[in-house]
Amino acid sequence: MAAAREERILVLVRLRPLSDKEIVANEVADWECINDNTILYRNTFREGCTFPSVYTFDRAFRGDCSTRQVYQEGAKEIALSVVNGINSSIFAYGQTSSGKTYTMVGITEYAVADIFDYINRHEERAFVLKFSAIEIYNEVIRDLLNSDNTQLRLRDDPERGTIVENVTEESLKDLNHLKELLAICEAQRRIGETSLNERSSRSHQIIRLTIESSAREFLGKENSTTLAASVNFIDLAGSERASQALSSGTRLKEGCHINRSLLTLSTVVRKLSKGRQGHINYRDSKLTRILQPCLGGNARTAIICTLSPARSHVEQTRNTLLFACCAK
Ligand code: ADP
Ligand code: MG
Repeated sequence: MAAAREERILVLVRLRPLSDKEIVANEVADWECINDNTILYRNTFREGCTFPSVYTFDRAFRGDCSTRQVYQEGAKEIALSVVNGINSSIFAYGQTSSGKTYTMVGITEYAVADIFDYINRHEERAFVLKFSAIEIYNEVIRDLLNSDNTQLRLRDDPERGTIVENVTEESLKDLNHLKELLAICEAQRRIGETSLNERSSRSHQIIRLTIESSAREFLGKENSTTLAASVNFIDLAGSERASQALSSGTRLKEGCHINRSLLTLSTVVRKLSKGRQGHINYRDSKLTRILQPCLGGNARTAIICTLSPARSHVEQTRNTLLFACCAK
C-alpha cells in the first residue's frame, strides 16, 4: 500500500488591531508582527517575564492585513483542494474577541466564491454542492439550519465513517444563497445566549461544504465515478476554555469551563504534527469524531490562530501562541 501523503498542518497566525474601545481605554499593543512569519513580544523586560520574545510560523498576518489576504495567502489552496476530491479543514483558534468569527466568515465566503468560479469554468464535470452547519455545545450537537434538531446523534457508517444523523443539507445555489444561510446560522447561534458572546464563546461551529462531481460524458453510465469531498470551516470555542482546564490541572470532566472537544482537538493536533505516531484519540470528543476523515491522513488542514495585541490579554495570547507552536 502506498504511504499516505503526510501533510503538515499549516499554521497561520493573525494579529488583530486594537479595537476603538481598547484605544479609548489606553490599552497598549504588546505584540507585533515584524515580518511574514514572525510575531514579536515587546514587553519581555517587564518584571517576572519568562517569555521568549520571538515566535515563528508558516505565515503571520499583521493587524492591517485584510481577510482576503489571509484567505489568498493562507487558506485558499487548502479550501480549494475539495474540488479535486481531497477533504480539508480550516480552523480558527483563539481567545474570545480575538477575531475568529471575523476571520472565518470572510474566508468561507471567499472560498465559496472561488468554488463556484471553478465549477463554472469546468463544464465538463457536473457538480453538486451541499451546505450543512452544526454547533457543538457541551458535547450536544445542534443543527443550525433547523431549530427543531437540537440533539443530533452520531452514527458510524462502515463506508462513510462518522455521520451526523438527520443533519439538514441544503443544495447551495450561489454566493447570495451562502450569505443567507450564514445569516440563519448566526441567528440560531445567538439563541440561548444570555450575554454577549456567552454561548458562542463556549460552542464550536462547523460549516461543511460537500462537493460531488462526475464527468458529464459518463453521467448515468456504468463506468461513471463520482468524486466526493468535504471542506470544513470551524469556528472554535474561545481557547480560554482549554487553557483554564489545562492550567487548573483538574481531570477532564463535563462542565461549563472545561471543553472536551477543544482539549481533544489540541491533543489530536499535537499528535498529527508529530507525524501520527501511535494511537490518535479522535473518538474522545464529538468535534474530533465528526472531523476525523478531514484531519490527518490525506486530508489537508490549516489552523488560523487569532491574537489580540492588547497588554491585558497577554496570558491568553501567549497560550494561543504555545498551541500554535505545538501544531506546526
Ligand atoms: P471571536 O469570534 O474570536 O470572539 P470576533 O471575530 O467576534 O472575535 O472579533 C471581535 C471584534 O473584533 C469584532 O468586533 C470584530 O469585528 C473585530 N475584529 C476582529 N478581527 C479583526 C481584524 N483583523 N480587523 C479588524 N477588526 C477585527
Ligand atoms: Mg466568535
